[in-house]
Amino acid sequence: MARKVKCRWCNVTDTPKSEMEFELVGKSKPVKKYYHKHCYQEFLEDKKFKEKEAEELDSLRQTIENIFGIKQLPNQAYPFLQKLRNGEQVFGKQTMGKRYKEGYTYSLIEETFKHCEDTIHYWLGVKDFNGFMGAFKYSLSIVIDKIYYVEQRVQEQESKKAMIDNHIKHIVDEEDSVFESSYKKTSKTQEEDILDFLDD
Ligand SMILES: [Zn+2]
Repeated sequence: MARKVKCRWCNVTDTPKSEMEFELVGKSKPVKKYYHKHCYQEFLEDKKFKEKEAEELDSLRQTIENIFGIKQLPNQAYPFLQKLRNGEQVFGKQTMGKRYKEGYTYSLIEETFKHCEDTIHYWLGVKDFNGFMGAFKYSLSIVIDKIYYVEQRVQEQESKKAMIDNHIKHIVDEEDSVFESSYKKTSKTQEEDILDFLDD
């Protein structure tokens, strides 16, 4: 009888190996990790999501390092960014709007850091911060203050782009039909020409 193995996604052991999906993990000595067929899809989606999150966080890290002119973002900075990502309160006293609680993507946080770059540089020049974390937290509060505005702007740009794309598609469709009808006309004329020619 086929041995039943545990699903790495739901942790239930009820299905023979042969009826399960598996993933090979590790390079030098690959190990098979088994999943129910229906769990495997969820696992892949989750994996894709995590990879995208990691990429966005990495890009955000680079942007922050560039703005502050530092080589490596200290580990203490990450929990603050994660809180903003997860829609948790980042600082003690902070009023949170409904939207805020749903969280913001790392790429939107990055976009807002870029938007606030000049303001951050200004405060870095005039205010005395107690080390990097003090300056970072101050900058993050500027970012939080502006993130809703930047989000609205990004959404407006996206809907404008969608409208333009739609419009272009519409124009192209119309051009196609104009082209088709003039093409038909031309070929008909040629046909008539040939008929005329034959008549002669
Ligand atoms: Zn499962």
